[in-house]
Amino acid sequence: MNAPGSDESLPGPGPVDPAGAARVLRAARDVLVVGHVRPDADAAGSAIALATALRRAGVPVTVSFGGPEPVPVSLGALDPDGLVVPSSEAPAAPELLVSCDVSSAQRLGDLADRLDTAGSSLAIDHHASFTGFATRHLVDPAAPATVLLIRAVLTELGAELDPVLSRALFAGLYTDTGGFRWGGSDALRLGAELVDAGAEPRGLMRELTGTRPFGWLAAQAAVLAGARLEPSAAGGAGLVWAAVDVATATRFRDQTATVVGQLLATAGDGVAALLTETDQHMWSVSLRGNGSPDLSRVATALGGGGHAAAAGFERDGTREELLALLRAELDSASG
Ligand code: AMP
Ligand code: MN
Ligand code: MN
Repeated sequence: MNAPGSDESLPGPGPVDPAGAARVLRAARDVLVVGHVRPDADAAGSAIALATALRRAGVPVTVSFGGPEPVPVSLGALDPDGLVVPSSEAPAAPELLVSCDVSSAQRLGDLADRLDTAGSSLAIDHHASFTGFATRHLVDPAAPATVLLIRAVLTELGAELDPVLSRALFAGLYTDTGGFRWGGSDALRLGAELVDAGAEPRGLMRELTGTRPFGWLAAQAAVLAGARLEPSAAGGAGLVWAAVDVATATRFRDQTATVVGQLLATAGDGVAALLTETDQHMWSVSLRGNGSPDLSRVATALGGGGHAAAAGFERDGTREELLALLRAELDSASG
């Protein structure tokens, strides 16, 4: 048994398994846990569940997400103990930086500099496009959500599931598996375990996504009314796209995530794209498809990343410039 903080028994740089990740975490005395910018429930749920377990194990820990925007209010439902701090208050040089659901350094946003200032870093992720940016990584592209990897680490840490941990994990699991549409029996088994331990899906999902401001109805109608179908795009599979302007994106920034799924439902075997203008001529693009063409490849070529059926990228330019780039990459990935 090594003294606390000793690194004699720690795995070397490179890939680690859940037991190796747990050893690194247990040895740390000052941990900053982060998720990707504009966190979704997998990033936030993973980070909060891991940090909650570490704090209970006596490891000092802070959770944050790279700015510029504040964390969506709805994710507060996953953080009853108030572990999340604004990125401006995140420790400047933590002993250990842990990233959850982050595929590239760029996706750390304001907190990317911590890769240089932290003593070491550990990435826990499930993106095929993971770039290997951290000192150590627990990465499994076959995992349907990062929370499954976090669950395995929690087991190694000896953490008991309770309602706080279970809700955080369930939110990420449900969201990243499209409501258990994919992820198979492993996802369903973990879902059952989490429900048994106190994740109450109906109330939880209502807190996370089930309530919206009334004004969103008209705003959403306007976004959907502007949708366009391009049947010959993506090598003939078709593209349905819509755009959210800056004013709508600013006012309804927590609401827009579900729109791309509505577009996809009308795209047949084709592709859906939601272009959200986050700032003047700055765009965040969400792509959804059916696995072919490989949207991870398309998004990576445009500076982003993701999975075959769900990917995204951020880029500046006019809407038409972005669409032209997107059409070209969709065609080449469909070829
Ligand atoms: P979203 O459309 O934002 O829900 O993202 C869909 C998938 O693509 C998620 O797995 C994201 O982590 C990934 N993704 C989105 N935007 C980016 C980006 N700029 N860089 C890398 N991956 C991204
Ligand atoms: Mn994510
Ligand atoms: Mn994820």
